[in-house]
Amino acid sequence: MAKQIHLGCIADDFTGATDLANNLVRAGMRVVQTIGVPTEPLAADVDAVVVALKSRTIAPAEAIAQSLAALAWLQAQGAQQIYFKYCSTFDSTPTGNIGPVTEALMQALHTDFTIATPAFPDNGRTVFKGYLFVGDVLLNESSMKDHPLTPMTDANLVRVMQAQCQKRVGLIDHRTVAQGAAAVQQRIGELKAQGIAIAVVDAVSNDDLLKLGPALKGMPLLTAGSGVAIGLPANFGLSPTAQSSTLPAAQGLQAVVSGSCSQATLRQVAHFQASGHPALAVDPLALARSTQGGADVVASALVWAQPHLSTGPVLIYSSAAPDAVKAAQAQLGVEAAGALVEHTMAAIANGLVALGVRQLVVAGGETSGACVQALHITQLQIGPQIDPGVPWCHAHTPHGAVHLTLKSGNFGTDDFFTKAFAQLA
Ligand code: ADP
Repeated sequence: MAKQIHLGCIADDFTGATDLANNLVRAGMRVVQTIGVPTEPLAADVDAVVVALKSRTIAPAEAIAQSLAALAWLQAQGAQQIYFKYCSTFDSTPTGNIGPVTEALMQALHTDFTIATPAFPDNGRTVFKGYLFVGDVLLNESSMKDHPLTPMTDANLVRVMQAQCQKRVGLIDHRTVAQGAAAVQQRIGELKAQGIAIAVVDAVSNDDLLKLGPALKGMPLLTAGSGVAIGLPANFGLSPTAQSSTLPAAQGLQAVVSGSCSQATLRQVAHFQASGHPALAVDPLALARSTQGGADVVASALVWAQPHLSTGPVLIYSSAAPDAVKAAQAQLGVEAAGALVEHTMAAIANGLVALGVRQLVVAGGETSGACVQALHITQLQIGPQIDPGVPWCHAHTPHGAVHLTLKSGNFGTDDFFTKAFAQLA
């Protein structure tokens, strides 16, 4: 039986879960990320588990049900502290789901106090006097004001959180955080005496988060972005070490599957080709013409790849410049084009692994979700960071164990596709 975990995390989306897992690993924890609530025991001995849900924008009652199921599983693994992870831009609507999920977890954990802070200074997310800044501007002046699902029109997090909660929300401000853990704990006592159950916490630097960490020792529930994670492993006697990110030795063939059309990915595709590596484009319009639902396109891509794989990494991509994407979308419809391409890239990833690929780079958030599903991956052991927010992972598939990295669109340097394999070697 696996040993008991220290920290149990519940993340409200997939790439956010990886972001948190990556921060915990860098601070010294061994971490597994699960896709949804596991139905099986842990595959490895770890210090923390991040359960990745897709609960950010679903109905609050469903988000609560999924989060409580995750909590029950994490408690069964012995988790001593629970961390509810949401986006560092506090993505939510007036009905949730950050507030309702927080209150449901508090009730289930029989706790009368928790914190809420999306601060992630490494990514430009800072909280001061309860106001959230994105880079140099307030949240409501950032591009988040126009988000299609969770537009954020108020930067005052005490107000935003209070609107989503029954319990009273207060503030632990920067002056208190700067004085360190004892001052934070004293302030928590004062807030509790005033009947306040949830405190937004200021943090403008990693130094603030590291000062906050010790004050959170033993608090049954934390709610935060990924930033607060950097101050937690020390509470369990852990410090940064190379061991926490150690994965089994990499072997097998190498491939990149890219369904991301983000600017950074387009540069990475161009860089990989310019470095002399073989690359094959998948055309959405050819997919749409297929009478076999794209199965012929998948098969011919795999036939193309097979002879190249023995000499080094190959790239198969649907990534295209905005004009080409718009043309495909105009002909097929935005959602239909996306789904068709995702389904195809996932089938190609699965076919490549069946051919012996054991080191796989996937570019694109949605594309990654589709590939992980096609490969029947349920748990990812988190390894070393390649670029901020993007670690190598190790996972089991029906074809065998693979190293894979899931790169969301705008992450990574231009040489990411070649750099990633060099790092594993
Ligand atoms: P990112 O992380 O860059 O946003 P995603 O994988 O999340 O990447 O999203 C890219 C979306 O675009 C996916 O739904 C993918 O299937 C779709 N897509 C990829 N290539 C094309 C293309 N050439 N034309 C139209 N849609 C595409």
